[in-house]
Amino acid sequence: MVALINKIYFYKICIVGDGAVGKTTILHQYVDRKFVEDTQMTIGTNFFIKNIILKEFDIIIKLQIWDLGGQDYFAPVRSNFYDGARGIIYTFDLTRKSSFTNLTEWRNEIKEGLEEEFSRVLVGNKLDLINEEDRVINLEDVLLMKEQLSVSEYFETSAKNNTGIDNAFRRLAIDIYKKSTSKINRFNSD
Ligand code: GDP
Ligand code: MG
Repeated sequence: MVALINKIYFYKICIVGDGAVGKTTILHQYVDRKFVEDTQMTIGTNFFIKNIILKEFDIIIKLQIWDLGGQDYFAPVRSNFYDGARGIIYTFDLTRKSSFTNLTEWRNEIKEGLEEEFSRVLVGNKLDLINEEDRVINLEDVLLMKEQLSVSEYFETSAKNNTGIDNAFRRLAIDIYKKSTSKINRFNSD
């Protein structure tokens, strides 16, 4: 018998991080299964939609993923960017240390705009460009950063080879879902 999907959930999430870490490329790979080298063309598009089927929960999650386009460094236009978001993907470039350390600045900006109870994951992108022996960001740095950003999980991705991306989004979606259902259960038992 074909299992029927019970419910559809709709969540807004935001992907943040310094310019050129690969945010837009990750989204093209995740949503369109394409490595788009020149993401300049899509600067005007500021969100993507992706459906995730979670058989284990009998649900579909519709993710609306907001991307900053070419406005990464221009804080004033971001005032509404985070409104209503349930999750954040903090992204850095595994080859560029400054994109990693700058994540705390992104966190500070988000803290002002969002309530505490949203979900977060940390993503180190461009895995295809590094060799294990010349990593500029080591595991210890990552563990510290995970704490600073209060993220649950860390993923290494390549938007070029499409590695790790589905896992990162799926994990974030499940996290948001679990948080929202535990809230509903609390509410019902009051
Ligand atoms: P954004 O500013 O964070 O949106 O970064 P973009 O998505 O525009 O990517 C910046 C550059 O990095 C582009 O030239 C991409 O082709 C390249 N890029 C993005 N992700 C990867 C990756 O995983 N591996 C490699 N080799 N290049 C990548
Ligand atoms: Mg971009």
